[in-house]
Amino acid sequence: TTAATLIDGRACAERVLADVERQSQALRQEGITPGLAVVLVGEDPASQVYVRNKMRKAEAVGIRSFEYRFDDTLKQAELLTLLAKLNADPEINGILVQLPLPATIDEHAVLQAIDPRKDVDGFHVENVGGLIQGRDALAPCTPTGCLQLLKQQCGDLAGKHAVVIGRSNIVGKPMAALLLAEHCSVSVIHSRSVAPEALARQADIVVVAVGRPEMVDARWIKPGAVVIDVGINRRQQHDGKTRLVGDVDFASVALIASAITPVPGGVGPMTIALLMHNTLKATRLQHASAESL
Ligand code: NDP
Repeated sequence: TTAATLIDGRACAERVLADVERQSQALRQEGITPGLAVVLVGEDPASQVYVRNKMRKAEAVGIRSFEYRFDDTLKQAELLTLLAKLNADPEINGILVQLPLPATIDEHAVLQAIDPRKDVDGFHVENVGGLIQGRDALAPCTPTGCLQLLKQQCGDLAGKHAVVIGRSNIVGKPMAALLLAEHCSVSVIHSRSVAPEALARQADIVVVAVGRPEMVDARWIKPGAVVIDVGINRRQQHDGKTRLVGDVDFASVALIASAITPVPGGVGPMTIALLMHNTLKATRLQHASAESL
């Protein structure tokens, strides 16, 4: 028996995508077709699935997508040359380099080589800085999607105590910055935190992005808290089949939380929808600045 409300990420993502589609149709009326370049280096199976889904979704909402695939022998210099070309191409409004990159390539150098105005993942230092300063920057898709789910569920977040578990540059840190901008009091838990359960149990909102299957159970959660589970883990079952699970132990937490995202069907669909949203935002940004020249 589930006591908590299920937060429906698929339905929320559909609403975001419908809005993106409307906007891309409006741009087409002005002769502008948004374009997204997706760069994949290496053979990581999960990355291949993510890239395929992103390309499909882009086409479905009227964004032209361009795929650039390389094997893991690609040299960093060659990747930088490609990015320079994409930066200069007016048909490309968004550039996404699928992570992780092979160990031979310096991830930071690559992300910094993307024009910040085309940085739809929001990983360029200029956009990260903009997010921290509370400016209207291109913000990372996963935490922005989590924030939308939280606002939909809770309304105004001002004054709430939010605990973010995990401090990666992709999820945890930008999540903390976004919640702070919404006037939450924010605590961040990581692998060196002492008594993390007791801290998390004080929170009204818990966002979990640790990459450890079902680590956060009911002991971490205050009754009535809202729980967002970012984790995507493949767990082997007794019958040998694998099943997707989050970083939250759904069965125990759903009995005590007031609302919770499922895995799958929670944060995952929002990430991809926010990527499309950012591509539209980038397109409008680029055309607005071209007009004001
Ligand atoms: P990272 O591995 O980059 O970061 C994990 C974070 O969790 C680190 O900050 C680490 O702390 C912390 N951590 C690890 N173990 C513990 C522990 N025992 N107690 C407290 N904190 C701990 O992961 P990501 O942020 O990239 O991803 C997190 C999860 O989210 C993964 O399951 C990933 O698959 C998923 N994900 C899902 C997305 C989606 O669209 N739904 C998008 C991106 C990620 P420290 O810094 O001290 O090492």
